[in-house]
Amino acid sequence: MKGSFQIIRLFNIPVQIHWTFLLIFVWLGFTSYSQSWNWQATTWAFFFLIAIFVCVVLHEFGHALTARRYGVDTRDIILSPIGGVARLDRLPEKPAQEFMVAIAGPLVNIAIGLILSAYALVASEESRMQLFDIFSLLTDQGSNFFAVELSAFEYFLFGLIALNIILAIFNMLPAFPMDGGRVLRSLLSMKLGRVKATRIATIIGQLIAVGLVGYGFFTMSLVTSFIGIFVFVSAANEYRMVRFDRILEQYSVQDVFRPNYSPLYTNDTIEKALQQLSSGLEKHFLVLNEWQQMTGVLSEKQLLKAAEEKTATTPISAIINTSYKVYLPSDPLKDVFSDSQWTISPVYDQGCLVGVLDRQAVQNFLKIQQRVKK
Ligand SMILES: [Zn+2]
Repeated sequence: MKGSFQIIRLFNIPVQIHWTFLLIFVWLGFTSYSQSWNWQATTWAFFFLIAIFVCVVLHEFGHALTARRYGVDTRDIILSPIGGVARLDRLPEKPAQEFMVAIAGPLVNIAIGLILSAYALVASEESRMQLFDIFSLLTDQGSNFFAVELSAFEYFLFGLIALNIILAIFNMLPAFPMDGGRVLRSLLSMKLGRVKATRIATIIGQLIAVGLVGYGFFTMSLVTSFIGIFVFVSAANEYRMVRFDRILEQYSVQDVFRPNYSPLYTNDTIEKALQQLSSGLEKHFLVLNEWQQMTGVLSEKQLLKAAEEKTATTPISAIINTSYKVYLPSDPLKDVFSDSQWTISPVYDQGCLVGVLDRQAVQNFLKIQQRVKK
């Protein structure tokens, strides 16, 4: 992601930090200065921030390593001030697998919370009492959390336990993009299919989002309202993406390719190609030789770049791209779209060139299909 830099590589997955994450440390420095903390307090707060960051990374590795068990790779894990995200190459198709991948993250936080709690239980009498206080806080708002005198280490320990509980609960909210939204969708998918399940999960998520905005408004909590708006938009996006995937699945190259096209020829000049570009609607071209055989392809971008660098009389054989993909009418549209470098391809049927498939046409087709109500 733009503005991110790698800090470590674990299990062959790069962990990256978005530069805005560093603002948290600026904020810490500022708070420490304005509230005149001593250096011990500042150091503990610094390590607490690092510990939060480690817990979030472990949460993301919960997703990434579970996904790996199902053969799904993770491009990277990115941390920003609003949280972490493990960018999986794709989502597992089977609902049961999606369920496992989604729930693995919060389970990591529960595990961390339990391990730290076990330590607190055996560490000392006071820490045991304090531990009970944390759990009573979850059921009773009036608890005297942190009312007793604690050492800096105990603050750190109980802060982390509380943090992991909060991370687990917050992430299990049944709303996209939280893990709970995916857990809910995967459970619904088992009975209803992916599109319908996503639709229902989206509606539930948006109701929760409206609730969050309302709650934030009444309690004057800007952060809560902001999270609500974020959740609302994310839910809508998720549904659009799933519908988009479904459209891709329904069609093949057959539905999108153009049998009529104007080719360029290898001995055409750049000038001739530019004329064809500006006089017609086509932006990318198949290039044939004098025996009408496919030789290469030329995209608008390539042509314009060559026009800047080379003389107008240069034959386009010098600038065409001779490695290109070939599609059959029966190829699924999904395969075409997953290739981001692709701009234009010849379509062959039983060994004969029958037409052309270009990115622009595919995008237009999908744009139209997304608006068609089904
Ligand atoms: Zn998660």
